[in-house]
Amino acid sequence: MSGGPDESSVRVALRIRPQLAREKIEGCHICTYVMPAEPQVVLGKDKAFTYDFVFDMDTQQDAIYGHCTESLIEGCFQGYNATVFAYGQTGSGKTYTMGTGFDVNIGEDELGIIPRAVNHLFRGIEERRQAATEQGKPVPEFKINAQFLELYNEEVVDLFDTARDVEARRQKSSVRIHEDASGGIYTVGVTTRSVNSAAEMIQCLKLGALSRTTASTQMNVQSSRSHAIFTIHLCQVRMCSPDNDNATDNRLAGNSDINEFETLSAKFHFVDLAGSERLKRTGATGDRAKEGISINCGLLALGNVISALGDRSKRSTHVPYRDSKLTRLLQDSLGGNSQTVMIACISPSDRDFMETLNTLKYANRAR
Ligand code: ADP
Ligand code: MG
Repeated sequence: MSGGPDESSVRVALRIRPQLAREKIEGCHICTYVMPAEPQVVLGKDKAFTYDFVFDMDTQQDAIYGHCTESLIEGCFQGYNATVFAYGQTGSGKTYTMGTGFDVNIGEDELGIIPRAVNHLFRGIEERRQAATEQGKPVPEFKINAQFLELYNEEVVDLFDTARDVEARRQKSSVRIHEDASGGIYTVGVTTRSVNSAAEMIQCLKLGALSRTTASTQMNVQSSRSHAIFTIHLCQVRMCSPDNDNATDNRLAGNSDINEFETLSAKFHFVDLAGSERLKRTGATGDRAKEGISINCGLLALGNVISALGDRSKRSTHVPYRDSKLTRLLQDSLGGNSQTVMIACISPSDRDFMETLNTLKYANRAR
């Protein structure tokens, strides 16, 4: 992947997790087959799908990061927004892939996308500061903020807001989503944490993730029914690069020794989507059914947006961002100048065949 956005603004990766111990014990068979040296998967006998990347069961976390996220962080340093989201049924590996599970015994090599991106970001900042110092240039300034939201029943819950418990926040949300004159999306009433180091950022992420899981057990509601959106804002003030318009104007005017500064902003959304499983399988009724309906509303809208973005004829006319809070929130970071990667997560086991087929079809619409 290149540093800047290219023609297709959404890339799709498929990740097949290994079989879990229980699936092996219960004698589940593997029903996915990855073609050698091709980004193609065959489900069952003959259902073949091709994506930008296909990662088979043995793929490690660092390879996923390297292929799906690394270049997007580099893009953020150039001012491009980015979104990475994990899609799939509950238990397919979304949280493992994004890296918000925080298992106590997790090893360095098992870290998921978000902690790796955070480390990469702060390393990148340090490198840029050092390079400027060594070259005797003004040191670029960076401001990093983080937000952590949950979307539950079309309500926006602020996971950094510790004044009220998550249940109360879910009942009544004070968060609003707005669009500015230039099409930028911003939120009102959301806690924004200013962060100065990778360690601080990871700490924030842990606290937010924790408040989410504790609330879920208290309420006997699985967090798998809501979307979690972790957002990093990067603001950078740096000297214009020589190929920048301002700098060129100055050179033409003979002012080659004047330092021009530019401000670049970018945001990066990391989205652990709600489980994509169908309602009837979980036998939901009442409130659960209502949750199911609005979750489907977000996933449905996201599917429509992504498919419109992939369709050249629709891209310029109508992309239905307004159909859900999820797509509204991600609007300025999906399509356009931003880079988007969808990681579709699936189980290899035959008992999940139908849900896996649904996921493969959903992911296929994005291309
Ligand atoms: P989801 O968030 O989609 O519900 P999880 O990320 O919680 O799924 O994954 C379900 C289980 O599978 C967890 O125990 C997780 O540790 C394990 N798992 C998922 N993906 C992998 C993987 N690539 N390698 C090893 N274990 C995995
Ligand atoms: Mg999960």
